[in-house]
Amino acid sequence: MLHVNRRGNRKTVLVAGGAGFVGSHLCDALLGRGDFVICVDSYITGSPDNVRPLTNHPRFRLIEKDICQFLEIDEPLDQIYNLACAASPPQYQADPVHTMMTCVAGTGNLLALAERHAASFLQASTSEVYGDPVEHPQREDYRGNVSCTGPRACYDEGKRAAEALCFDMLRAGRVDARVPRIFNTYGPRMQANDGRIVSNLIVQALSGNPLTIYGSGLQTRSFCYVTDLVGGLMALMDRRPNPGVPVNLGNPGEFTINELAQMIRAMVPNPTEIVYEPLPTDDPQRRRPDIARAIELLDWRPTVPLAEGLNYTVEWFTNSLAKRPRPQAT
Ligand code: NAD
Ligand code: UDP
Repeated sequence: MLHVNRRGNRKTVLVAGGAGFVGSHLCDALLGRGDFVICVDSYITGSPDNVRPLTNHPRFRLIEKDICQFLEIDEPLDQIYNLACAASPPQYQADPVHTMMTCVAGTGNLLALAERHAASFLQASTSEVYGDPVEHPQREDYRGNVSCTGPRACYDEGKRAAEALCFDMLRAGRVDARVPRIFNTYGPRMQANDGRIVSNLIVQALSGNPLTIYGSGLQTRSFCYVTDLVGGLMALMDRRPNPGVPVNLGNPGEFTINELAQMIRAMVPNPTEIVYEPLPTDDPQRRRPDIARAIELLDWRPTVPLAEGLNYTVEWFTNSLAKRPRPQAT
């Protein structure tokens, strides 16, 4: 599909979910390389605060809108990134029907927008499409082990449906759609109370509260620093030709939740104790990306080790919490 760059070398890029954690870093990076950026967000889990420093930027525009509603943009678009979807389990389970509709109706609306503009489209998918994986590490050809009726299904199945929509539009020659499968990502601008493991443990540690570990803490995750992820998203969006297959983006380092907690305890002045709480339903036991495809197709690999990225994140939360007294992790 022909990619037209409509403002000289500068692309016009729409970022749905751009006021969220990952989306705001993506907006920074796109503006940094000279693009025009239109951020569309309903603020259901994100906040205009995340893009506040950008609001007076001459190449940045912010639109408050739910992607489940029809959307048209007057100026021609070159690229559309769809990052709009709650990503933390407590948040996406708070209104599961809206989560599913965001993935299906919302992605459908944005694909239609991409088709009208002949814009390239990138759909933020997730390692959750692998569910509680039986194969380890997870390669893109693994079809997953997802509960289609459990409390995580609104997100896992929603994202699987969104992938199917993208590949149908691609096969039909209607949209130049690309699909990264993002593994757990962390860094500055995570919400203090979003319930995810990295933000929870750091906020608890800095607030002098016990660190909550669900289950035994022997379950594993692979944590990617946000700027590494953003580089991978842009590499996949910009790659010519479209690889036409999903691509895992994540850091293949694998850590137990116990190990993560100990790393964070070692980074704060007065480490608190750990308390063990029940494991949520359908919580995956192991997760690690096989990133051979990203290396081969995109020449992409993460560069920020977990200890370094956690240090940046602890520092960011230390400053941000100092401005907001007595926050509580969920
Ligand atoms: P986030 O919750 O911080 O950001 C999501 C943004 O989308 C928020 O600003 C939210 O307000 C917005 N949004 C949600 N539903 C919307 C709707 N219907 N209409 C308009 N805006 C809406 O989450 P994040 O961590 O930045 O995740 C961004 C994307 O990456 C999500 O699609 C998520 O599924 C995917 N992802 C993230 C991770 C991760 O570890 N962070 C892992 C896998 C996949
Ligand atoms: N988790 C935990 N304590 C917390 C929050 C999460 O032990 O305070 C666990 C959670 O049960 C899961 C892992 O940490 O096993 C990662 O959770 P997160 O919600 O960050 O991501 P996901 O489960 O979607 O990978």
